[in-house]
Parts: sequence; structure tokens; C-alpha cells
Amino acid sequence: MAKYVFVFGGVVSGLGKGIVAASLGRLLKLRGYKVQAQKFDPYLNIDPGTMNPTQHGEVFVTADGAETDLDLGHYERFIDENLTKYCNLTSGKVFWRVLNNEREGKYLGKTVQIIPHVTNEIKDFIKRNVKETNADVMITEIGGTVGDIEGQPFIEAIRQFIIEVGRENCVVIHVCLTPYISGSDEYKSKPVQHSVKELQSMGISPDVVVTRSATDCGQEIRDKISMFCNVARDCVISNTDVECLYEAPIMLHENGLDKAVCRLLGLKEECDISEWTHMLDKVKSRTGELNIAIVGKYVSLHDSYISIVEALQHASYKVGKHLNINWIDSEKITDKNVATKLKGMDGVLVPGGFGSRGIDGMIETAKYARENGVPYFGICLGMQIAVIEYARDVAGLKDACSGEFKEGSKVIDIMPDKLGLNLGGTMRLGAYPCVVKKDTKLHSAYGEDKISERHRHRYEFNNEYRKTLEKAGLVLSGISPDGVIVEAVETEGDGYFVGVQFHPEFTSRPNRPGALFVSFLEAAKEYALKK
Ligand code: GLN
Repeated sequence: MAKYVFVFGGVVSGLGKGIVAASLGRLLKLRGYKVQAQKFDPYLNIDPGTMNPTQHGEVFVTADGAETDLDLGHYERFIDENLTKYCNLTSGKVFWRVLNNEREGKYLGKTVQIIPHVTNEIKDFIKRNVKETNADVMITEIGGTVGDIEGQPFIEAIRQFIIEVGRENCVVIHVCLTPYISGSDEYKSKPVQHSVKELQSMGISPDVVVTRSATDCGQEIRDKISMFCNVARDCVISNTDVECLYEAPIMLHENGLDKAVCRLLGLKEECDISEWTHMLDKVKSRTGELNIAIVGKYVSLHDSYISIVEALQHASYKVGKHLNINWIDSEKITDKNVATKLKGMDGVLVPGGFGSRGIDGMIETAKYARENGVPYFGICLGMQIAVIEYARDVAGLKDACSGEFKEGSKVIDIMPDKLGLNLGGTMRLGAYPCVVKKDTKLHSAYGEDKISERHRHRYEFNNEYRKTLEKAGLVLSGISPDGVIVEAVETEGDGYFVGVQFHPEFTSRPNRPGALFVSFLEAAKEYALKK
């Protein structure tokens, strides 16, 4: 019989509910349980795939090719289990299914309603995910804040679900902000009380309240929350700021979160967290610093590149250097200022992106990096940029471009089978194998002849230009097993100029950093020494 944990949020959004869910997942996994996590997002998009990253942050791609909420990235990094398309449900997806069922006559003439049709669909989704994954514990995070109109069907479905599977098999966690009032120098519990009341008014009483505040709000406030919110004293858990994200499981463990949850669910209360603390020792023992530039178009919201930043951090633990990440808006880079903008950088990373905005600045960046020997790492769009730059400046194809931005020599172009389709859900998505060429930087990074990484793009290296570019010295270091798709490129010789069509950031883990991020930072470290 599976156990269920539901994580709600209150007072304000952006409290790090996802980190609480992910941390708890890791703490349960450390006890030997099979843990899976899923996210319910109340918005009406079918998935976040078509959303602008500066609004909603990165789109995280699962191995089976689902475009999902960035919190799934936290779950994968903390719990280290591959999630699936069954792990992210939006209101849009639920309504889509219900309306399709209605059109197909599946409701046999009944009036279609939120209760039971929409709520049943949500409950079925939870059941299906548990069945597919065989999880001992399923953690479900509900996006947004309790009280949002869109969230109500989810809350109602969970209320019903808890009755169906038994209260003793479920734990409800409410993560709320406990604000600090500087004028009176005190923490206030009232917003938490109101938010818990709101949840209770919908028929769900939280078992655990996680109070979010920069520093510990103190036992007195926790006791107040316990009394007014009808939650056991040891089930009010402080969630304070941590320097490094991966300290959150330890902080929450020390504050008693997992112990309380395990007691309520009848799971093992004892837990050996030494594996995780060993990893944190590495985080703490870094010395010195590397300056890494991320040159992209969505830099106004750092969450747009969250998996890349995390992957860089994971690699930095292995390389033993702190990172100073410099966010550079590619729209602001020109041939005149590129040297000033990139001054002092030990490595440059151009991440993924869509559309023509900011492209010229990225091409200038790639050119500057290649010509000056600054390590360059291009991911997806960043690889396409590297190919365009190389075609223009080395192979002499002055009008080299991508079919996504311009007319000219389309060294990057749309995959023929994707022509004329809608934007939503038409990309090459999910994990694909790649054969790695021997004696390349890609090969020495991975140390393997065949790898698998996740994709999310419409455009590809145009095979018509393979010969021209290879002749000009571009190494096609990764190719699909059927030999058709170029997956990775690099330059010959010592410099680190590497581009990959896939997204290696999605599979990087704090204790198992992505191979290319490590080789990139090693190159940056070497470059910094030489400088
Ligand atoms: N816009 C490019 C494409 O669709 C790159 C996508 C990406 O960087 N994820 O191929």
C-alpha cells in the first residue's frame, strides 16, 4: 500500500515548496523507500512548453519527453529518480481530457461537472502514477497558493482521495510564510493561521505546517501556530534560508520534518544522512573562484536557466572552485563591446533559446570566445550559434544562419518532418542516444562511446553543410546512431569550443555532475591559470 504526501502552499507563492517536497523525497529515499514526486499546476496551459521562460522559469524535460514545471528538476536532482510524463498535471490537461471524453460520449449523457468528472480525472492521475512507478511514497506538490480559484478542483480531489485511501496513509503539509516585522522586531503567525483556516474550510486539515522565514521564528511562534492551527507541536517545522540549496534536506531533517512525516505514516523514523552530508563537505571545501558568463536572452529571470545553473554548481563541487556567475543579456552585446562585456571571464556558456531576438550578440560571443581561447560551451541554441559562427568566420559562408531567424545559408534548419505543424508539442523531445567520436573532447568528457541525453528543439544541424564545415575543421563529435543527426560539434586542438544539440543539464545531479559541465569548468580552471 503506497503512502501519500501532499504539499500545499500558503500566504505567498515562491516559498520553495518544491524544495521542501524534494528534500523530503530525498530524506525518505535515504531510508530505502522508493519515492516519486509529482506536481499539480492549476494554470490552464496544457503544459509549460509554450510559456515564456521569463514568466514561468525553465521548462524541464523528462527522459520520456514531457515538457514540465521546473520543480520536477528539483525532484530529479534531490531524489535522483527519473520522472515521467505522469508527474506533471495542469488544469489545462485535466479539462482537455474531460472535454475530449465528453465529445466522445464517454459520460453517457450526464451533465459534466467539476465534481465528479474533473475531480475523478485528478484522482485517476494520482492512482495511475503510483501504479506506473510502483512507488512506496508519492509526494504531490500543488502549485500556487491555497485560495487561488484555479486550485480548488485539485484541493477538492485531494480531499476525496484522502478519504478513499485512508487518512492514516496520507500526510498533508502546508508551507507558509511567517513574516518578520522589523519595526517591532518580531515574527507574526497570523498569516499562517489564516492560510491554514482557508485550507481547513475546504475540508483539509494540515498535519504538518512548515513555516518559511529567513531565520528561525522561534519556539514561541511555533507553539502559537501549533495551538491555533490544530497541529501537533513537533509538526510545526521551521524552514529557514540556507547558503546552498542542497543543505535544505539537512536543515529540514534537523528541524524534524521527516521524523514527523514518518511517524504519521508509520514509516521508519531512523535515518542515516551521512551520504548527503559527505556531498555537502565537498560543497564547503571549494577554494578560489571561476568567473562564468551565461550569455542568453532570458537572463532577467535566473530561473529560466535553473538546471544549467544547478549543473554548473554540481560540476563546481567536483572541480573544487566556487562559481561567480555573470548574467549577460545577449541583446546588449555588439562587436564593439563584446571584449569589455566578457572581460575577466574564465568560461562562456550560451544556453538554449527560441526566436531571433538576441542572436547577433550570441554569435559575437562565440566568435570572441573561439578567437581568444576562452572556453565556450553551447547548449542547444548555443550549439547552433557555434555552428553559424564557425560557418561564417572560418568556413567563409558569410550568410550562414538558421532557418529559425533568417534567409541565407541555412547551416541550421528545421527538421523536414516538423514543417507546417503547430508550435505546441512539435519538438524533438526527451532522451535520444548519441554515438561519441573517439579522441574528441566529448569523448574524454563522457569516457563512453554511446551516451543518451534529453532534447528540446525543432531545428538541427543541416547535413547539406556537413562536408564544408568538416573541411573547415569543425569536428562532428556526436552523431545519432543512424548517422543522420549531428548531436555535437567542437573545434580541433587545445581550445574548448564545444556545442551540443541536447540538454545535458537535465541529467546532472549534485553527487553525479554532468560530464560536460565538469569538462567545461576544468577548461575554465586551466584557462584561469594561464591568464
Ligand atoms: N530554437 C532552437 C530550436 O528550436 C533551439 C532550441 C533550444 O535551445 N532549446 O532548435
